[in-house]
Amino acid sequence: MTTLAECETRDGADPLAHFRDRFALPEGVIYLDGNSLGALPRATAGHIARLVETEWGDGLVRSWNAAGWIEAPRRVGAKIARLLGAGDDEVLATDTTSVNIYKLVRAALSADPARHTILTEPGNFPTDLHIAQGIAAEDPAVRVQMAPRESIAAAAGPGTVVLLTHIHYRTGERYDLAAVTRTVRERGGIVVWDLSHSVGAVELDLARDGAELAVGSGYKYLNGGPGAPAFLYVARALQDRLHSPLTGWLGHAEPFAFADDYVAAPRIDRFMCGTPPILGLAALECGVDLHLEADMRLIAAKGQDLCDLFIELVDGKGLDLELITPRDRGARGSHVSYRHPHAYAVMQALIARGVIGDYREPEVIRFGFAPLYNTFAETWRAAEALGEVMTSGAWDKEAFRVRARVT
Ligand SMILES: *Cc1c(COP(=O)(O)O)cnc(C)c1O
Repeated sequence: MTTLAECETRDGADPLAHFRDRFALPEGVIYLDGNSLGALPRATAGHIARLVETEWGDGLVRSWNAAGWIEAPRRVGAKIARLLGAGDDEVLATDTTSVNIYKLVRAALSADPARHTILTEPGNFPTDLHIAQGIAAEDPAVRVQMAPRESIAAAAGPGTVVLLTHIHYRTGERYDLAAVTRTVRERGGIVVWDLSHSVGAVELDLARDGAELAVGSGYKYLNGGPGAPAFLYVARALQDRLHSPLTGWLGHAEPFAFADDYVAAPRIDRFMCGTPPILGLAALECGVDLHLEADMRLIAAKGQDLCDLFIELVDGKGLDLELITPRDRGARGSHVSYRHPHAYAVMQALIARGVIGDYREPEVIRFGFAPLYNTFAETWRAAEALGEVMTSGAWDKEAFRVRARVT
């Protein structure tokens, strides 16, 4: 089994090791929840403070042009595009993931009168399912169809918009994006990919893989801060054929003509809706810049190395935990999940020891490995802490407290 000393040696040889200092992490905490809320980059607070004081305070309304505020969704989108393998005119940083799912699924349905079905999988992230259900509720012609992962691509047909999360938030399972996209396209359907647990965690090449539509989160691996703007991707070939259902003024061809009648902006700009959240975009840009400064190939490889190490160490302890994340590096994202009947109590006991992962219903604990700031040594320490919690009965005491609180 890998020793702590070996982990320290790996940290010493890690080409990304110096990025850890670029984050403001609290002392005494091992943070393994960057897949839920990414850590704070050190640059962010100063950047936001300067923006607030000078661009907002001094520049006032002039900053929409002088400071490039109006361009921010496109500028930050173009940077995210480099992490997606997309063109810089194919991505916008805007709205939330939920809203972007609505925009793209609705637009994909409306683009072809033969499209009436949203195909997705049971257990997909709740917002994906709920937005799909909402679209079906407002349009009697649309129905939501569910199919299991294994057969989802084969269940697609010409009338189908397939809504899938590339890396499953609970299990960490990863779809073969290229293969699923190809099969669905061959069958006449179209896929909307939710990349919330993928961007900043694994290598993506949407252009090579033929992806047409995608959305994703800015506050997870991208470190954009709580509630950071999300992004959407529309392949160039589709942009002028799709129409956003949220026809806000900033998606207008000439927003500053203040015309009465809506005319969709050309290209990706039509997927803008309202005034962009400049402070949120500025924080997101700090997180994205760190990823561009590093190399996405190194980031993705280190994420898999950290997951492999954690799985190996936990395996070696023979704990009563069921691994539900694939062991195969290519088949997962950058988090590792285990099932246990008292998973919630196990995670509470770990958090009390300074190891912050999270709990997901039902019975699942998750450990997210953010390659820019997590180290091999802390991965080792986290596995030790998990072993101690499981074997000392600490979780059992915690479970007792939880039960006592509930009743
Ligand atoms: C985190 C996450 C979201 C979040 O959507 P919001 O609109 O930002 O709340 C959506 N989809 C997936 C798969 C996620 O993991």
